Amino acid sequence: MFDLHCHSNYSDGLLPPQALIDKAITNKVQVLAITDHDTIEGFASLPEKPSKLTLIPGIELSVRWRKYDIHVLGLNIDKDNALLKEVIRQQNDCRLQRSIQMAERLEALGCTHVLEKASQVAGHTRIGRPHFARVLMDEGKASSMQAAFKQYLSRGRPGYIPTAWISLSQAVECIVASGGDAVLAHPLKYRLTRTKLHEFLYEFTAAGGTGLEVVSGKMTPAEIHDMIGVCQRFQLLASTGSDYHGDAISRVSLGCQAPLPNHCKPVWHNWGFL
Ligand code: AMP
Ligand code: MN
Ligand code: MN
Ligand code: MN
Repeated sequence: MFDLHCHSNYSDGLLPPQALIDKAITNKVQVLAITDHDTIEGFASLPEKPSKLTLIPGIELSVRWRKYDIHVLGLNIDKDNALLKEVIRQQNDCRLQRSIQMAERLEALGCTHVLEKASQVAGHTRIGRPHFARVLMDEGKASSMQAAFKQYLSRGRPGYIPTAWISLSQAVECIVASGGDAVLAHPLKYRLTRTKLHEFLYEFTAAGGTGLEVVSGKMTPAEIHDMIGVCQRFQLLASTGSDYHGDAISRVSLGCQAPLPNHCKPVWHNWGFL
């Protein structure tokens, strides 16, 4: 089983990287990519390569495309690449600025010391919207993570700040420069019309993007079938991942997403080391 998309507590996941690896082994994952949002620090924190599974260096880059926040996975990247490091620095700056603005918005809605509380929830300064969601729940402003997003944090809601993430071409360029595959994460999560998804994929492939996450977290067989069609249309390689963030957050456990159909050409087909 491959799981090429999950999060540690270096971004918005709940488990430390080593605990993720242990859980992956328990769940019979043979190849795992930890793909934290805009950081490789979780992967870099591990003292040595795990022996019981193959760990792929990965990242999930946030991209601004038109009015959308799109996520592009970088799989099998060189974490020491200079361009990648520069992009990560830029994204961190962006995230920090956004967290200050988001905290102001949420304080205007009656919360207090939002930034301090969110940093405490995160345990680091790369604060994401799920950390703000947790604060909103603790303050009694939302009854669940989903409710916090729906009422405050999704695009168009009062706590949402349009973020100056890197462009699509910058994201793909730095992934390719670091020797990795650029993969569009969870293609059905953006509420793009089919026309817009196609427009995106034209730009994505033109920039050097190579993969589509055909199986991502919880999907119906019909959705997977639909994404295989899109994959074939754009001659993309297929990827698979649980997008696991932790038992309390995720509906699909590590490595427990539906199997990738056999006739898909997988993103790892030319990874020589496997
Ligand atoms: P950010 O990178 O700070 O913009 O946060 C994005 C993260 O928020 C995603 O990776 C998910 O983990 C989480 N997320 C996004 N939308 C929702 C939602 N509707 N409900 C729950 N979590 C969400
Ligand atoms: Mn996340
Ligand atoms: Mn994502
Ligand atoms: Mn993710």
